[in-house]
Amino acid sequence: MTMEFVDVLVIGAGPSGCVSSSYLHNNGIKVKVVEKTRFPRLVVGESLIPRVMDHFAEAGLLEALDTMNFEKKLGARFIRGKEICLFDFSNKFSEGWDWTWQVPRADFDNAMAQEIIRKGIDLEFESEVTAVKFEGSDSITTIKTKDGQIKEVHAKFIIDSSGYGRVLPRLLDLDAPSKLDPHSSIFAHVKDVNRPEGEEGTLISFDILEKEVWLWVIPFSNGNTSIGVVGSTAFVNALSETNNTTEALKNAIQLSDFYINRFGDVPFLFEPIKLENYSRAVKQLYGDGFALTGNSSEFLDPVFSSGVAFATESGMLSAKLIHRQLNGEQIDWEVEFSQYMKSGIAVFTTYVKEWYTGNLQTLFFHQPENPDVKQKICAVLAGYVWDQDNPFVKKHDNLIKNMAHLLNFEKTS
Ligand SMILES: Cc1cc2nc3c(=O)[nH]c(=O)nc-3n(C[C@H](O)[C@H](O)[C@H](O)COP(=O)(O)OP(=O)(O)OC[C@H]3O[C@@H](n4cnc5c(N)ncnc54)[C@H](O)[C@@H]3O)c2cc1C
Repeated sequence: MTMEFVDVLVIGAGPSGCVSSSYLHNNGIKVKVVEKTRFPRLVVGESLIPRVMDHFAEAGLLEALDTMNFEKKLGARFIRGKEICLFDFSNKFSEGWDWTWQVPRADFDNAMAQEIIRKGIDLEFESEVTAVKFEGSDSITTIKTKDGQIKEVHAKFIIDSSGYGRVLPRLLDLDAPSKLDPHSSIFAHVKDVNRPEGEEGTLISFDILEKEVWLWVIPFSNGNTSIGVVGSTAFVNALSETNNTTEALKNAIQLSDFYINRFGDVPFLFEPIKLENYSRAVKQLYGDGFALTGNSSEFLDPVFSSGVAFATESGMLSAKLIHRQLNGEQIDWEVEFSQYMKSGIAVFTTYVKEWYTGNLQTLFFHQPENPDVKQKICAVLAGYVWDQDNPFVKKHDNLIKNMAHLLNFEKTS
């Protein structure tokens, strides 16, 4: 059996693992990344939000990503029948990036992975973590390679960025039930042959089919577009009696007055993928010698595209804390990691819940628009959910609800 010794072992080479390993490597820490699959590999999560740009810049990955010419995302459009609500990230309350990208994740994640390899990081593809043993904060991780070889990696710290692989939550029994209602999704890509010219063709859109059911449309610069339907698990399952995902997604597109002409007759580029009851939660975000980042910790809902931003936020933060810890500093992981991450997750959890109650939709589509409210909500949608100067962050747990009730009351009285 081969034995390797590193400072930090990162499990998974998605956005979370690439950002953390790149930061650590740039700061002189010996890091190894193990990835179960071979890239490029298909994964969902194609609409980014501006906050991720801070992380890619800090990790030294931005320039490599920029050369890929991904479609620029300047905002997002929400559609409800004939009503439209358009958010423009350059018109938001908090300081920060006012654009990002909308990306086919296979190419995007591969570009990041190739860049960290180019930097000199040991990224091992087709190698799966199968067991982890802790001795205090030190760990021995067992890895199985594609050809069946078993390896041991000794590390001072593990960052678990294994996404839905959820390596440490499974091995250490850290899974917890999600506080969100069970929702599911079916998605695929199409060759966007009917794409309109200009902004209309490239805008990311969320088309509300029913209060709890919506369609995403994410156009890519390669001419393809991602389409997905999201709704309660019961609704998504009922889209096809035979659980045929092609039929189900086609049926969902038929429900969209806005998109039926553009996508109604266009074939899918692969058999649509169903992701059932996708929300995830954990009992704790860290432990002695390890941190959980990205989807291996929490995943809420795709509605505000927060997944990759939380993955890179937690990846970057864990890397910075580990760097300081390995340099002899005492780190309060509860305050600096767990409480920080949980405060951002709490804001987005409120927005997701209030989306499905309909309260946030009341605010989005209210006419005339209130530009001040819109700028503040826009900052949240851009991922700046730690800005306590923004009342839509600070008072998230009741402001949306109260304002929606007031607007509904005005309408009916
Ligand atoms: C329906 C749906 C729609 C979504 N839409 C969006 C969106 O529009 N925007 C957005 O930001 N987010 C979205 N997300 C969330 C997004 O997919 C994730 O938040 C994001 O990919 C998390 O990144 P990550 O780096 O944590 O994990 P991943 O990108 O999943 O990477 C984890 C990696 O770990 C590897 N791995 C797993 N097990 C092991 C193992 N045992 N050993 C070694 N490697 C392993 C995997 O192969 C994988 O490559 C969506 C999610 C769902 C369910």
